[in-house]
Amino acid sequence: MKTLVIALGGNMLLRKGESGTFDAQLENAKRTAKRIAGLIERGYRVVITHGNGPQVGNILIQQEKGRDEVPAMPLDVCVAESQGEIGYMLQRALRAELIKRGIKRPVATIVTQVRVDENDAAFKNPTKPIGPFYSKQEAAKLSKKTGALFKEDAGRGYRRVVPSPKPREIVEKDAVRRMIKGGVIVIASGGGGIPVVKRGNRFRGVEAVIDKDLAAAVLAEDVDADMLIILTDVKAVFLDYRGKCEIELRKTTPEDASRYMKEGHFAPGSMGPKVQAAIDFALKGGRTIITSPRYLEKALKGDAGTLIE
Ligand code: ADP
Ligand code: MG
Repeated sequence: MKTLVIALGGNMLLRKGESGTFDAQLENAKRTAKRIAGLIERGYRVVITHGNGPQVGNILIQQEKGRDEVPAMPLDVCVAESQGEIGYMLQRALRAELIKRGIKRPVATIVTQVRVDENDAAFKNPTKPIGPFYSKQEAAKLSKKTGALFKEDAGRGYRRVVPSPKPREIVEKDAVRRMIKGGVIVIASGGGGIPVVKRGNRFRGVEAVIDKDLAAAVLAEDVDADMLIILTDVKAVFLDYRGKCEIELRKTTPEDASRYMKEGHFAPGSMGPKVQAAIDFALKGGRTIITSPRYLEKALKGDAGTLIE
């Protein structure tokens, strides 16, 4: 039986321009659940992971607005909250879809910590923008109050920036493996996982976020996945994306992908980490498909999407 790790983009559940009510996100989750249930029906073992950008952004706003009434939670706790929120939606939607198809399989979300290295260079240079946009004055005020760092984001205003260290290890990997073996459909490492550093025998949460695509590659390796599938809102990876000589990349090697990356074909905050995740997984012998939910079935037959192996 083939094991697939499926990484869902954070925008898949809460799209740009949507208000992000629970019901709206659940509707989106149902649509995604149909695609995934189709794979399970066909005999694939599935492990799901997901982004959390829009959701954790909203949670951060709730921290800010409620700060004078109740204690604001640190960022690692906000990531954990987003795993619970999104995991709940996905497991509810997927369970319902499986029952509709007469498939009795448990679906469960695991709150997942991901170990990062305390000496990761990212801690010296926080670059990942998170949460809402602020004016210069608001940002300065918040920075004074909370100690958080704010940077201007492409002329659109000021945003909090945090370190985005490399994922090293899925702390709960043994639990995930055992659940998979027991036939459970697992949702793990949401939002790239809760970033933790090791101190002696203990873990401690840190103010950072981990890229969900890079964490998905670590998860895929940890569960011996046959394939990593990164679902996003484009049908494939392109060279010269939106340029004059745009070409759809259908199949490539990690070596060629690395070269294209150096040539600047993949935007650092969006397609870059997906291709990097595919390269990381390929170097461990794994195969990765990058596509959109609509093209998933075709991509598995080799008729769409981008395959990196
Ligand atoms: P997700 O929420 O799925 O992680 P992202 O927005 O981070 O989504 O990444 C997907 C986006 O990457 C696409 O919507 C596309 O605009 C952008 N992108 C940047 N470079 C490329 C490229 N070379 N080929 C395809 N898409 C690209
Ligand atoms: Mg992304």
